Amino acid sequence: MLLAFISFGSHNHPTKMNINPKLTLISLLSLTTFVFGADHPAPSVDADAALAKLKEGNARFSSSKVSQGKPTAAKRAETAQAQHPFAIVLGCADSRTAPEIVFDQNIGDLFVVRTAGNLVDEHALGSIEYAVDHLGVRLIVVLGHTRCGAVTAALASDTAPGHVQSLVRDIQPAVKAAKGKDGNVTDLTVAENARLMAAKIRNEASLGEFAKEVRIISGVYDLDTGKVEWAKD
Ligand SMILES: [Zn+2]
Repeated sequence: MLLAFISFGSHNHPTKMNINPKLTLISLLSLTTFVFGADHPAPSVDADAALAKLKEGNARFSSSKVSQGKPTAAKRAETAQAQHPFAIVLGCADSRTAPEIVFDQNIGDLFVVRTAGNLVDEHALGSIEYAVDHLGVRLIVVLGHTRCGAVTAALASDTAPGHVQSLVRDIQPAVKAAKGKDGNVTDLTVAENARLMAAKIRNEASLGEFAKEVRIISGVYDLDTGKVEWAKD
């Protein structure tokens, strides 16, 4: 694209170049793509700045301020051809915990993977690796939430019908880790489960050369207050 632009420009204006700001921007963007490679874009937002954006968004949401994240037609048009999300969120499938809403973000802002109990499987790892490698995302958040149904089921029994069995089975390490600790057993297990899933991503995701730039952190969304409480990463 850069080469095409240069050859087009020099062919038509060999001595006098009209500087069109729009074309200059396009050529700069093309140069960025050329330098960094389309498959390995430079991160648009580093991990710490991405976390700050999520914290600001959650503060807006939990204090009921006017949302800045409405998916307008203009925003849809802006993001239709390419996505540049600034954070990956692995969250629970629970209908009350949509990351775009609780972090007050728009379409195109978050790369979201959701499973009941915010569990990490092969597909989740593959999705995360894709977003880090191809979309330049440098922050990974595992988001549990209070009164999680999957965690409650895992606390009640380590067996369940059908494929729900895989959920209660994979939450058992968190059930064990929370045992004997002081406090609400469901809250403790939710926090342990999110922490263990963050550790699993840290240990198992193939992030290659980007691993040292990537920050992985867990948090728990409170259904009552709307606030996310962050763990230490
Ligand atoms: Zn849940």
